Amino acid sequence: MTPTDAVVIGSGPNGLVAANLLVDAGWSVVVLEEQETPGGAVRSDSSVAPGFVHDTFSSFYPLAAGSPTIRGLELEKHGLEWVQAPSVVGHSFPDGRWGVLHRDRGATASGLDEQAPGDGDSWLALCETWDRVGDDLVRCLLSPFPPVRGGAGLGWQVMRPGGWELLRELLMPARSLTERLFVGEAARMLVAGNAAHADIALEAPGSAAMGLLLVLLGQTVGFPVPRGGAGEFSAAMVRRLQARGGELCLGERAEGVRVEDGRAVAVRTASREIAVRRAVVADVSAPALYGGLVSWDQLPTRLRHRMDRFEWDPSTVKVDWALDGPVPWEGAPGQAPGTVHIADSLDGMTLSGSQVSAGLVPEKPFLLVGQMGVADPSRVPTGHEALWAYTHVPQQVRGDAGAGRNGLREVRGTWDESDLQAMVERIEERIESRAPGFRDRITARRVLGPRELEARDSNLVGGAINGGTAGLHQQLVFRPVAGSGRPETPVKALYLASASAHPGGGVHGACGANAARAALWHNKIQLPWRRR
Ligand SMILES: Cc1cc2nc3c(=O)[nH]c(=O)nc-3n(C[C@H](O)[C@H](O)[C@H](O)COP(=O)(O)OP(=O)(O)OC[C@H]3O[C@@H](n4cnc5c(N)ncnc54)[C@H](O)[C@@H]3O)c2cc1C
Repeated sequence: MTPTDAVVIGSGPNGLVAANLLVDAGWSVVVLEEQETPGGAVRSDSSVAPGFVHDTFSSFYPLAAGSPTIRGLELEKHGLEWVQAPSVVGHSFPDGRWGVLHRDRGATASGLDEQAPGDGDSWLALCETWDRVGDDLVRCLLSPFPPVRGGAGLGWQVMRPGGWELLRELLMPARSLTERLFVGEAARMLVAGNAAHADIALEAPGSAAMGLLLVLLGQTVGFPVPRGGAGEFSAAMVRRLQARGGELCLGERAEGVRVEDGRAVAVRTASREIAVRRAVVADVSAPALYGGLVSWDQLPTRLRHRMDRFEWDPSTVKVDWALDGPVPWEGAPGQAPGTVHIADSLDGMTLSGSQVSAGLVPEKPFLLVGQMGVADPSRVPTGHEALWAYTHVPQQVRGDAGAGRNGLREVRGTWDESDLQAMVERIEERIESRAPGFRDRITARRVLGPRELEARDSNLVGGAINGGTAGLHQQLVFRPVAGSGRPETPVKALYLASASAHPGGGVHGACGANAARAALWHNKIQLPWRRR
């Protein structure tokens, strides 16, 4: 059998981006995907209720909209259509007030100013700083380490007046930064709520950068969603790949990578061995690659020691609902947000985050909520809603901070039917407290606990959604282990392309792009756009 130039293991967004860049360079590419549907954690389905499309995992794609690589794929030519909710993000407070991120920065500012005079100007000043550094910062974060082009631009900004202060702010904990910048909780929570999309504590360095990145991307590019469901995003990447000769094999799991003389030469599945001429690109978690697809005897001992310290991000419980009407939010903003955050206060977020870190199931979990019918009415029957909410729980549960309080049932962390049911009650109670009458609108429900998530995508180990913690100690040159930060592995022609690689979780395609570019560079091929 003729060898193929590259095998990509896994068709998550990183695998599909890598495969597309490799076919663009004229390589023959085979993508192996163990599930029957491509896309990894970018998929949608209609199994919650007939006539509704629910995103199985991820939903909102500001990082994709901000990613030069994904924009460069021109997926709109392959059927992708982005749509946006009337407003971007809303933070719901217990007294019925809201903090709202609008597409228009002036509207965001005046809403924040109404709640805390002065915060509007502070918001606009933040936006102006982003106008100056945002592009370089995004390029810097999405490039392999060390970032050269984005880094140079950012370095130039740092040398300008106020530059060092800016750098310091990016490295600050989200709590310190938001308390310094804003007077009111609405503005603080918009940044802090976005910081909580990753698992960095609000009091830890690096959380401000995460919050600012998401909220300011939200302010500039919005939180777009693909019309028709997240799966349409992956489908467009697949169509582009296949139009250029790439091959996608569904329901075919890679079981091992054959290494000869320190070089990856083939990928084994249950039924065949695919010989590889140039590269194996692995969109699998770092622990699944090292000591899994490649056995430890092919890898340096020091890698094994370092992988012993690899840290997963927390686990997740996600609930999808079909509703027969919109969520009856108290004080609902005039322009409905696609994403809603539910936490009582900054202190409340700190409490639930530290309970997760301490191995406790939070009493009042921080909720990320998606109103997909608001963002894209084509996914629901007219006037209905396809809602989801997810929250983080510990990977290893040691106790339950909520058991017995306010009638809450105990969650033991076995994630059996009874645990999932108790968790659903807790999540629904949180939404009901902000939207009385919410429960009456539920016509169907699906619960995805840690096991259900992992069964649908084996990269989501124990319900971890980001390929490993986003804590500073496992970012940049420490991702996935100290001394890395690049997609190359100790095995020649083998590249780590998943969210376990720098720059980590989120749908930006950078891990896949970095891997593909490294493979091309080692084969001395430049992508057309790099030559220009
Ligand atoms: C519930 C949830 C909500 C999220 N929300 C958002 C969001 O709104 N916005 C955002 O930007 N990010 C979000 N994320 C994070 C984002 O989806 C992930 O970071 C991203 O999908 C990672 O992409 P990936 O390609 O590295 O891996 P994945 O998307 O996990 O894809 C990996 C693929 O590899 C396949 N695979 C694994 N092992 C093998 C093997 N041995 N052989 C063959 N195939 C294999 C898997 O089946 C899977 O298809 C969310 C994630 C989850 C789980």
